[in-house]
Amino acid sequence: MLSINRHLCAYCGGCVGVCPTLALVLDELTLNVAQEKCTACGICVKLCPVGALSLPEKVEATA
Ligand code: SF4
Ligand code: SF4
Repeated sequence: MLSINRHLCAYCGGCVGVCPTLALVLDELTLNVAQEKCTACGICVKLCPVGALSLPEKVEATA
């Protein structure tokens, strides 16, 4: 399950554009993830410039 640290997120929108399943949605006030669409691929975790996104250890270990 993808975790979003909203204290770190700068709402740049970068992660929204790279998600292959369109699981991330950014509106004016918050970033949300549709967990049922997320495949835990880790692309957004690697892309986020401020480290606001995280996945369980198993996936992060491959980063
Ligand atoms: S881990 Fe992959 S599928 Fe899940 S929100 Fe990030 S880019 Fe999308
Ligand atoms: S890439 Fe990181 S800082 Fe940018 S919107 Fe996504 S979670 Fe927030």
